[in-house]
Amino acid sequence: MELSPTLQEEFDIVIRRNPGEAEFHQAVREVLESLDPVIKKRPEYVEYGIIPRICEPNRQIIFKVNWQDDKGRVHTNRGFRVQFNSALGPYKGGLRFHPSVYLGIIKFLGFEQIFKNALTGMPIGGGKGGADFDPKGKSDNEIMRFCQAFMTELSGHIGHDIDVPAGDIGVGGREIGYMFGQYKRMTGRYESGVLTGKGLTWGGSRARTEATGYGTVFFADEMLKLSGESFDGKKLVISGSGNVAIYALEKAQQLGASVVAMSDSGGYIVDENGIDLEQMQDLKEVRRGRISEYADVNSQARYVEGGQIWDVPCDVALPCATQNELNIGGARALINNGCTLVAEGANMPSTPDAIRAFQKAGVRFAPGKAANAGGVATSALEMQQNASRDSWSFEHTEERLQEIMVGIHERCAETAEEYGRPGDYVTGANVGGFLRVADAMMAMGVI
Ligand code: GLU
Repeated sequence: MELSPTLQEEFDIVIRRNPGEAEFHQAVREVLESLDPVIKKRPEYVEYGIIPRICEPNRQIIFKVNWQDDKGRVHTNRGFRVQFNSALGPYKGGLRFHPSVYLGIIKFLGFEQIFKNALTGMPIGGGKGGADFDPKGKSDNEIMRFCQAFMTELSGHIGHDIDVPAGDIGVGGREIGYMFGQYKRMTGRYESGVLTGKGLTWGGSRARTEATGYGTVFFADEMLKLSGESFDGKKLVISGSGNVAIYALEKAQQLGASVVAMSDSGGYIVDENGIDLEQMQDLKEVRRGRISEYADVNSQARYVEGGQIWDVPCDVALPCATQNELNIGGARALINNGCTLVAEGANMPSTPDAIRAFQKAGVRFAPGKAANAGGVATSALEMQQNASRDSWSFEHTEERLQEIMVGIHERCAETAEEYGRPGDYVTGANVGGFLRVADAMMAMGVI
């Protein structure tokens, strides 16, 4: 899509200022493509420089992380924390440990997080961090030493009113535990609200682990309801097999769907009988094994090495692995096989041309910043529980999560309608999130 001259000018500045950061450029462009009707209606946003101010992080922290492996060898990684926007609350967003991490990835994630967090309606700003550390094949002790070294460098920049990190790819309950322990040791404070995704006995929230996957399914369920449909009897393909994918599988099954394919970085499995949740949890969460092992012990299932999971026919696809995993080839396969709904559990998993293909073909499409906001929303619920030294039941927390997802869906649908693109959740999410942040920035003046 073409950008208007004003927005193209802003985008050129972003490209110039952030050379080589392709993922960040992609994330910014997608938001700017939605903003034309907004700046026409509210020219004061341009006058107040809201767009360049929103595209420039408040602060970008890059640090060295030295750690020792079990053999005593010293390794050096690069750590990041990008504190993007704090108009609505303390910076909030996860930490990603993955060898592909560089500044451009953290910036794209941080940028997305601003709008996602705004859409939740909770008082949280946007930020993201991580390291180019590869947790694969590392021992538990190596993970601990890396997390401690990482937190030693990060600790001076975070706090429950400043910046509250959580997990993302490669960072789950175990890593949050090691980082929380190191922060506690360094500061001498039991500051529960400094990290989210904590364990249940030490300040964590029930349903946080499940929240992103559950939330994506709740959001997709709202989309289905608009045409009188439900998950009951639907055939699903879910990419990935991490925290998001596994709990999307659980909730989809609870709502009567059958999930026939899931994947990891090596390939995908197909089980036409419906993937077994308990086996998948044991394989991926307890044993940390490869997805191919599922097919080794289930004769009705098959494993496809490499390839694209989107070739498996389905009614609904939930990309829950990583950015740009669903390209135009995947989109075409889904469309040709009759898929009618795509909701993103990962951050920016669909490429721009894939999104355009879905929209052209009339496939309902929900972007990650709306559909996967349940994770961070439940993090905000964890912060609430920490602040009031309370601990809610699973049922209550899940109910709150569902209310929030219904609210986000409503906000996206209404905003898309108001801005002349009914049914376009990309516009709804980008504009809905942007308006909240922009209005807060306007109210606070030039700071
Ligand atoms: N990493 C998650 C996301 O992409 C969760 C962030 C959080 O809980 O702060 O939204």
